[in-house]
Amino acid sequence: MSGTSYTYSQQLMGTTVSLKLFVENLTAVSAVFNAIEQLEDRLTVNRYHSEVMSINHAAGKQPVAVSKLVFDLISQAKAASLLPDSKFNLAIGPLVKLWKIGFNGHSIPEKDEIGRRLTLTNPHHIKLNRTNQTVYLAKAGMEIDLGAIAKGYIADIIKLLLAQYNIFQAIINCGGNVLTIGYSPITADKQWHIGLKRPFAEANNLLGIIHVEDKSVVTSGIYERYFISNDQLYHHILDPHTGYPLNNELHSVTIISNNSLTGDIYSTIFYGLGIRQGLSELKKKQNIGVIFVTRDKKIIIQSNQHFTFELTADDYQLISYS
Ligand code: ADP
Ligand code: MG
Repeated sequence: MSGTSYTYSQQLMGTTVSLKLFVENLTAVSAVFNAIEQLEDRLTVNRYHSEVMSINHAAGKQPVAVSKLVFDLISQAKAASLLPDSKFNLAIGPLVKLWKIGFNGHSIPEKDEIGRRLTLTNPHHIKLNRTNQTVYLAKAGMEIDLGAIAKGYIADIIKLLLAQYNIFQAIINCGGNVLTIGYSPITADKQWHIGLKRPFAEANNLLGIIHVEDKSVVTSGIYERYFISNDQLYHHILDPHTGYPLNNELHSVTIISNNSLTGDIYSTIFYGLGIRQGLSELKKKQNIGVIFVTRDKKIIIQSNQHFTFELTADDYQLISYS
């Protein structure tokens, strides 16, 4: 075990981004944070201007040429939105903007308004032209929202950037999205130890520890951003079919995968599928592992040999499939 680690943090992408390295390399560190800032500038829909916003502003009017980076992410997001039974939908923007969950001014919208916005969220109406690298939203009022996956995509790019600085051991944490690179130089088992959060508790209150090497660990939970009205909890993962927050037996889904974009896409998809359908789907997806945390205090795991899990909460029951 070699000892020293160097940790750097910045507020970016609406969260605290932290980077831990095991060599001191300030050039690499500033390159990383600059890159994240620039990528956020292109992908965000929380400001008036960005590459993605230029597509949204032109909805119903004309196709917009974008960079390869933005085009590729939108193509992958569209493909994920069109998978059978997928509740991931990159065209969810009009509903996200209506609910404002996690932002100032959230409220329960009128049913009619939800119905009206649902007509603006069909992913088939996002027209991609690979030759011209353009994106066209066919109906006025449509909006792409990459909020569920931008962090994962950015984390994967940062891994490539670190490699250019010959850094092959690191951990990037973008609030709920953790990407581990290489093996850990500071633990006896050479694995990274990532905490699984207890829903609705303090950040350092854990249900257990995930042990991984060179993997992404992404969690989608309903306790990250939500509001309560009339004893009813409204969280920020919306059901693209009803327009209301997805309602099922789950508090969170964690995906362990090689790349973080996959983790980000599938954490939303598996949250939407729920446990039964999720586990059967996982048999076909040997390249990812999953941890479901349920409302009734069960932790259901299918590791597919991508991680091990150490339970630390004695009020939770662990059910493990391998
Ligand atoms: P976090 O931003 O807390 O990491 P997620 O990765 O789970 O959370 O993504 C939630 C965000 O994804 C929402 O804030 C919204 O911007 C967007 N979103 C909400 N519902 C959907 C959906 N069904 N499909 C795709 N994106 C969604
Ligand atoms: Mg996500």
